[in-house]
Amino acid sequence: MSRLIDSYNRPIDYLRISVTDRCNLRCVYCMPAEGIPLSESENILRYEELLRIADIAVRHGITKIRLTGGEPLVRKGIVEFIEKLAKLKGLEDLSLTTNGVLLKEFAFQLKKAGLNRINVSIDSLKPDRFYKITRGDFLNKVMEGLEESEKVGLSPVKINCVVIKGFNEDEILDFALLTKKKPYHIRFIEYMPFEVEEGWQKEKCISTSELVGIINKFQELIPLGNQEKRTGPARRYKFKDGLGEIGFISPISDHFCGSCNRLRLTSDGKLRTCLFSDEEIDIKGALRSGCSDKELEDILFNAVRKKPEKHFINDNIFKKCSRTMSFIGG
Ligand code: SAM
Ligand code: SF4
Repeated sequence: MSRLIDSYNRPIDYLRISVTDRCNLRCVYCMPAEGIPLSESENILRYEELLRIADIAVRHGITKIRLTGGEPLVRKGIVEFIEKLAKLKGLEDLSLTTNGVLLKEFAFQLKKAGLNRINVSIDSLKPDRFYKITRGDFLNKVMEGLEESEKVGLSPVKINCVVIKGFNEDEILDFALLTKKKPYHIRFIEYMPFEVEEGWQKEKCISTSELVGIINKFQELIPLGNQEKRTGPARRYKFKDGLGEIGFISPISDHFCGSCNRLRLTSDGKLRTCLFSDEEIDIKGALRSGCSDKELEDILFNAVRKKPEKHFINDNIFKKCSRTMSFIGG
């Protein structure tokens, strides 16, 4: 079977599926307090439609699928959907990104359904600050969700932490130190520009080297993997006595476009080949007009061919993405 390879010779083997645009939190950098206008439910791809696209994608070289949103755990039937996805022959890695609010009650069922691992988003370990950023008083629940995920073997448990200068950079060490007590993988993520957040400024981003410097002052970080030739977006490290690891994802200051292997599917049925490009390729229309598998394949291949060489955040022509992360699927 032919493989999905883009015009710059990058093999595309990673599909991110946003299963919903709904969410039970309102993080300030992702959604306004009143929420965003949501898609009508008939405009959201049904599970059988998602499964059909995933099946075709896996037959053409996708080996990793991540489910995201919005908040994927608020969509009814998510466990049964995962159970079906996990059975796709050729799929090697099935993961999910969640805000963790419902994780404690779902962790066991997710593992049993065939989910391999989980990313949980936490930007502060202080309840009042957690509330300020998410507009939800759920830090304890999220921490319980982490424990439960570890217990049931959703491994590794990764923590996504968006670092914003002047907001939470004083907690970097607290997050890093968690990896001494727990086998968690902390991923510090650079704050990215989306239209919802008027306050985004480049100055609020903290570069990987600054973050590494802050942690190194406390204890030396040992580099993992090949720092020059990365295989994933994160620069990875650990403490000598760490159980987990610490990674840095810097799409702005240290972009990884050269090795980008991703394709995204939005909950309303659009393919996106770059997080920061507003170009979308509709797949829902074809699906709902009774197209053949061959036609769906062609849409996937055409989309991949259009994948841009890199994003333009650091260039003058860049403008903020007009859709929020909750829509695109972060
Ligand atoms: N609701 C789930 C969650 O919060 O993990 C999944 C969807 S959320 C859009 C996925 C990830 O995008 C989260 O880790 C979130 O912190 C991140 N995110 C959202 N807006 C962002 C921004 N402006 N800059 C950096 N990361 C962002
Ligand atoms: Fe919801 Fe995740 Fe966006 Fe926060 S980052 S509002 S949890 S979708």
